[in-house]
Amino acid sequence: MGEQERILSVRDLRVQFSQKKRGGLGRAIPVRVVNGISFDVYRGETLGLVGESGCGKTTLGRAIIRLGSPSVSGSIAYNGREITSLGNRSFRAIRREMQMIFQDPFGSLNPRLTTGQMLGEVLSVHGIARGKASRKRIDELLALVGLSRDYCNRYPHEFSGGQRQRLGIARALAVNPKFIICDEPVSALDVSIQSQIINLLKDLQSGLGLTYLFIAHDLSVVEHISRRVAVMYLGKIVELADGSELYANPKHPYTKALLSAIPNPEPGVKKERILLNGDQPGPLNIPTGCSFHPRCPFAMPECSRSEPVLKEPAGSAGHFVSCLLYEE
Ligand code: SF4
Repeated sequence: MGEQERILSVRDLRVQFSQKKRGGLGRAIPVRVVNGISFDVYRGETLGLVGESGCGKTTLGRAIIRLGSPSVSGSIAYNGREITSLGNRSFRAIRREMQMIFQDPFGSLNPRLTTGQMLGEVLSVHGIARGKASRKRIDELLALVGLSRDYCNRYPHEFSGGQRQRLGIARALAVNPKFIICDEPVSALDVSIQSQIINLLKDLQSGLGLTYLFIAHDLSVVEHISRRVAVMYLGKIVELADGSELYANPKHPYTKALLSAIPNPEPGVKKERILLNGDQPGPLNIPTGCSFHPRCPFAMPECSRSEPVLKEPAGSAGHFVSCLLYEE
């Protein structure tokens, strides 16, 4: 892993927002949604990032490409260059290489622009193509995502959910990105359409040499696209490993519970479901010690006092876990 080229290196990233208490009265209080996260993404791979809604995974993705205005500390290096300290002007050129595909493409598409107008605007604003060259590039982009050129004159509301996601992907590709954050791109789609979009993303990755950070709330969704998978809980990564290793040999109790919830595809073979106590608490009520301890079926008395750190247990090269069960 060490010899591969890192496209993104995140170190001790913390992201926090100010939030007023219910009713909007009183002073705003800081809410830390991402709480000291470190990971690398290697060129040409897909890193899957999985966790329940509210665990901070989307906030993490948005912080990397500076969407929204949270307070961010720690380091984000893109192609070896620290980007957290860059001014907006210097960041703009890098931002073009880093695009995002959203869960709800409809919300991110202008309903008043046809497909051709929308893609033409992106190409023009970024100085990529105008006039005839723009029309040629729009045809190419539509072909890349499996849409006919006849769709050029249609508005977003005339597309199905799957077609709209293809359009969202075409828009991200318009600026020739190198790194794409896919934020739950198939969560709102029917299962049959989900696999079509995942296959499209895989084909685009091998054809265009793209790198993905693929965010999902379900381990089964990322299984077929990710080379490595990171599991997040309450603002932290609790386990990170090669996909095949993580699915065959999960270590963290939370990962085990998520995997046990995936139905077995073999008929008649029953899996033992690991049930968790209660719901994931909010970022204002992070439990002491291991933040997972109130829900963990394997919790020990020290779990409420000591905070585990993400590390490779002996004999588990490349498989990181944050759990006191694996600490010496
Ligand atoms: Fe469970 Fe304790 Fe491990 Fe946390 S540290 S996951 S509570 S066993």
